[in-house]
Amino acid sequence: MKRYLGVSVVLLCLLFLLPLATVVTHVVRREAEAEPEGEEEAKIELLPPGETDGSYTIRVLLGDQVETMTMGEYLQGVVRAEMPASFEQQALCAQAVAARTYTLYKMATGGNHGDVADVCGNPTCCQAYLDKETAAGNWGDRAENYEAKVENAVSLTDGQTILYEGQPILAVFHSSSAGQTKNSGEVWTGDLPYLQSVSSPEGSGVPNYYSRAEFTPEEFKKLFLAAHPEANLSGSADGWIGERKVSEDGNVDSVTVGGVSVRGTQMRTIFSLRSTTFETEVQDGNIVFFVTGYGHGVGMSQYGAQQMAKDGSDWKEIITHYYTGVTVAVYTPESLS
Ligand SMILES: [Zn+2]
Repeated sequence: MKRYLGVSVVLLCLLFLLPLATVVTHVVRREAEAEPEGEEEAKIELLPPGETDGSYTIRVLLGDQVETMTMGEYLQGVVRAEMPASFEQQALCAQAVAARTYTLYKMATGGNHGDVADVCGNPTCCQAYLDKETAAGNWGDRAENYEAKVENAVSLTDGQTILYEGQPILAVFHSSSAGQTKNSGEVWTGDLPYLQSVSSPEGSGVPNYYSRAEFTPEEFKKLFLAAHPEANLSGSADGWIGERKVSEDGNVDSVTVGGVSVRGTQMRTIFSLRSTTFETEVQDGNIVFFVTGYGHGVGMSQYGAQQMAKDGSDWKEIITHYYTGVTVAVYTPESLS
């Protein structure tokens, strides 16, 4: 009975989370890495790969090829692609744990690829993936140390997985927050207990932390009416944008445009904004968005993780800060049975 209950709970979750999970992914694009200049770095020792991550394989769809690799090999590729390797070791470790958990979550809930693969290398679907050679080409003369940091991030956290009620969580992450992360329910349809708003210490030191997007009335009209033809965008642009509902963490929940109420997330999509933390103003007749942070704002902030690591937090402290009420333990897909 308990098992059936378990299965139906999983199925029920699947039903609610699948649409969410496909939208979710990570709007994490790598920012230009600020390189410390002129200092010769000591060689970083490469640790042996972890036994748990090496004990099973997963199927990864890369382009139109399905490659079978160990969880450890896959995670190295994700960490190479999803976080600047110049980041602190403990931030990279937190990234490895989030990526492992996200992958195990996908595997446990059926994922997006049916019987073909467990995950893919497309960041808008699953997680970005970069092989060793390509990454080394990008990293230039820092490649050896960066590769060691990435591989060590995986082996130092071998098997470690973020669990809520004993199950891997939907461990989403994003580039940077506006002082606080967002509740999942503000951004997606479902609110998950472990994806709640928490403080995030990254500040204006993040590249393009504050951004600006400007539209002429004609451009604004064209984009908005394509999504909402029923909106009334006549007269001066000063009157187009009405009431805004903003949550405590700065997220724009909804805004009224031309008499139509739209979610902040939709505004972000329509106008390609970097986040849903924004204000608008009419300047010289144009509509200007002032945007803070980058990404969907839910789960771990990568620049926040970097700041916590710089301030002395280890990966576990970073993980338990960003994901509410979770435990961290070694977990493998076999733990499911
Ligand atoms: Zn995918």
